[in-house]
Amino acid sequence: MIICKSADEIKLMHRAGKIVAEVLLKIKNILKPGVVTSYLDKVAEETIISRNAIPAFKGYLGRISKKPFPSSICVSINEEVVHGIPGKRVVKNGDLVSIDVGVLIGGYYGDAARSIKVGNTDKITGRLWEATYDALNLGIRKCVIGGRLTDISNQIEERAKADNFSVVRDFVGHGIGKNMHEDPQILNYGPPGQGPVLKKGMVLAIEPMLNEGSCEVKILNDGWTVETQDGRRSCHFEDTVAITENGPLILTRI
Ligand code: MG
Repeated sequence: MIICKSADEIKLMHRAGKIVAEVLLKIKNILKPGVVTSYLDKVAEETIISRNAIPAFKGYLGRISKKPFPSSICVSINEEVVHGIPGKRVVKNGDLVSIDVGVLIGGYYGDAARSIKVGNTDKITGRLWEATYDALNLGIRKCVIGGRLTDISNQIEERAKADNFSVVRDFVGHGIGKNMHEDPQILNYGPPGQGPVLKKGMVLAIEPMLNEGSCEVKILNDGWTVETQDGRRSCHFEDTVAITENGPLILTRI
C-alpha cells in the first residue's frame, strides 16, 4: 500500500531531507584524494547528531544481509554500486565516490545520494556521472499527479541507453516516510504507463544506478557492499521527492 502524506508530514520530511542535503554538501567539500572513508563517516555522523537527528543506516537490517549496517553513511567507490562500508580505504585521484545518507527526525526519514568525481576523472567516468545525474532529474520530472509510476522507471532507462550504459536491476528506488523503505518499489527500467497512478502526497526516493558495462552485480562477503560483476564503474544518485499540486518537490536539496 502506498501511503500518501499530509502537507504537515511533508514539512517534517523536508526537515529530514534538508539535514541529508547538508551532510552531503559537507562531505563533498572534504572529499579529496588522501581522505580515509571512515573519516567521511565520522563527519557525517557528527553532523547528523548535532542536528538532533538519527543516522538511519547505522544498525539497519537489510533484506539480504543478516548483519546490521555498521556505519552512518554508505561510501561506494568506482566498481562498488551501493552499500559500501566506510573503513580504512583511502580515496584516490580519479575515483568516482557515491555517498548515501539517511536520517530520521521527528518520526520521518530522508534519504539521498550523490556521486562525486574526485580530482581528474577519465572521460567515460564523466559521461557516466552526467548520464546518472540526468537520469535522476528526468525521473523526478515524472513525479506529477496523474502520472504513472513506471514513467519514472522508463525515463531513467532511456537516459542510460542513450549513452550505452546499463541500469542495475537488483536494486531499486522506494517509497519513504515513517519507514525508510515503503511501497512502492521503483524499478529503474521498463516501459512507461504502468503501475500505480501517482497521487498528491506520495513521497518517493528515486535512485538510478547506472553501470559502464553489464548490469550484473554481486554482493561481497561483508554482506553489504554491492559491486559490478565485470569490475567496471557504477554511478548512483538519489533524491527524496514529494508529489505536490505544484509538481515534484525535492526534499533533499538545499
Ligand atoms: Mg534509498
